[in-house]
Amino acid sequence: MTGAYQTNAKTAGPWVDIDLNALCTNFAMIRDQAPNIETAAVVKCDAYGLGLKAVAQTLAAKENCQSFFVAYPEEGAALRAYLNRTDADIYVFNGPLPQTMALFEQCRLTPILNSFEQAEKWASRQPGVAAAVHIDTGMNRLGAPLSEVDDIAALKGLSAKLLMSHLACSSAPTDPMNAKQRKRFIDAASKFPDARLSLSASGGALMGKDYHFDMLRVGTALYGGTPFDFDEPRLAPVAFLRAPVVQIRTALPGETVGYAASHAISKPTQLATVALGYGDGFPRAGSGQAEAFIGDIRAPVAGRISMDLTSLDITNAKNSIKTNDIATFFGEGVSLFEAACACGTIPYELLTGLGGRVDRRYL
Ligand SMILES: *Cc1c(COP(=O)(O)O)cnc(C)c1O
Repeated sequence: MTGAYQTNAKTAGPWVDIDLNALCTNFAMIRDQAPNIETAAVVKCDAYGLGLKAVAQTLAAKENCQSFFVAYPEEGAALRAYLNRTDADIYVFNGPLPQTMALFEQCRLTPILNSFEQAEKWASRQPGVAAAVHIDTGMNRLGAPLSEVDDIAALKGLSAKLLMSHLACSSAPTDPMNAKQRKRFIDAASKFPDARLSLSASGGALMGKDYHFDMLRVGTALYGGTPFDFDEPRLAPVAFLRAPVVQIRTALPGETVGYAASHAISKPTQLATVALGYGDGFPRAGSGQAEAFIGDIRAPVAGRISMDLTSLDITNAKNSIKTNDIATFFGEGVSLFEAACACGTIPYELLTGLGGRVDRRYL
């Protein structure tokens, strides 16, 4: 399969293949978990690094996705321009500020109001214009405290079409915190009888119908990243990080590889130097830990990952590996979850960290 991929003729650098069919497969899989409610796509941070335009347009056209969530109004404005449909709902997690109010109005973005103060300002400036209210049920990050719920519910002019909260521990489905937050959410929801309810991101969506309510807000699962502390086999890989070999060399006993001479060679070793480094967002923490799929093996990273280059130990490859052959750092042979673990991080950070030098190629 690797043979089908050609080195990027423009830059000979790394790229990420993005399988938009797999994106749709994951969206449909989640929606099938909860067929009677709405599945919304979280496309903040440039659709988790995979490209807001392609991801949102694909989900809107192929899966009839109607609701999207972003973090910033600027992301929402870009999304509004990408979507042909004027009826799409674009929710913005970071609620309106004085300097962004105009953008909300211009682009018909739905603000997520995160405090009484924010709700009051919106209701007085935009009476009757629908908004979402985010209440904090234990995350202690964003959202109105439970003590403000009554006052928000009583606000004149506020039309809350969605009430949401966010789980702190959905990476561990059995954590008792999940049930605690669910209970607090249900209690608060009784004050907003006209609002639809949304508690769950990817983790809650995959935890079963107790956590589904009226709308799922799904991010990482769409992109093939498990939301859990363990891999989730129901998700199809979407992103494939690839880079070409720029040089092959042999290192002999007594020699070392890379910066700080941290990797000692004890037997004759074949090395492939690959055009991917921490400057592309592949974490330096993966030095000596991560593996890449090349030829017919998983080749360990030998020594330190540098800015533009990584050395792979390909000694065990049965077939010879040549310059311009392709190494895959995740997606095929090595899963996104395995790569993230090897780098001491999570799929979210690995995807959103992919640098500007990594060409996005859509399949
Ligand atoms: C990012 C985010 C989501 C999506 O989370 P995933 O775990 O990627 O599905 C949902 N809700 C809120 C409030 C978020 O910040």
